[in-house]
Amino acid sequence: MPLAREAVELLVQAARAWYFEGNRHGLRDREWMALRFLGRANRFSRTPSALAGFIGSTRATASQIVKTLESKSYLVRKPSQEDKRSVVLHVTAQGEKCLNQHDPINHVVNAVAALGNDGCVGLRDSLRDVLNHLDAAHQRLDASICRDCMFLAERGPATPKGRAGAEFMCRLYRAPVSLEETELLCTSFERTRDRPKIEEHLDRARIASQG
Ligand code: SF4
Repeated sequence: MPLAREAVELLVQAARAWYFEGNRHGLRDREWMALRFLGRANRFSRTPSALAGFIGSTRATASQIVKTLESKSYLVRKPSQEDKRSVVLHVTAQGEKCLNQHDPINHVVNAVAALGNDGCVGLRDSLRDVLNHLDAAHQRLDASICRDCMFLAERGPATPKGRAGAEFMCRLYRAPVSLEETELLCTSFERTRDRPKIEEHLDRARIASQG
């Protein structure tokens, strides 16, 4: 237990990078959290309600945050292509630049990257295990990527050049999902633990797309 406590206390100290009083580069910590999430979320999750769920706020608070980010030209709303009555939030080029240059977690990301590939994988998997335990206890999971989601299915045959052009299908939204989109955050994610076929397929597709 002392080791576990020591690890958690270190995590709490690291969290000072993203939970802070006042603002940094003009944004409060929750506004950074929202901009960061919207910069990484897939098209199904870039909505005001999904944002409210992710940051753990009311719809009214999330709307206020969206307005603040819009006023700084970091965000624009566009009608959803799937449902014209809904809006999808898009991070602008200026918003992406702000994230790249000033996001308070960038220092932490750089420090983690310095651990090397094996260190990053070990830390990621350990934190994921911890979150899985917490989710099981509290019946929640904020967001994760398609790769581990039970709704992801293969769609269509492989292309002649290999799997790089292969597409996937989200069985929840009944919509195609590209390889790039499988790396984005989704708040409708549902964990699956036994899908080696898709996992291997995605790894092959990713390697093919890189080479
Ligand atoms: S497969 Fe899962 S994570 Fe991906 S878009 Fe569908 S619900 Fe979201």
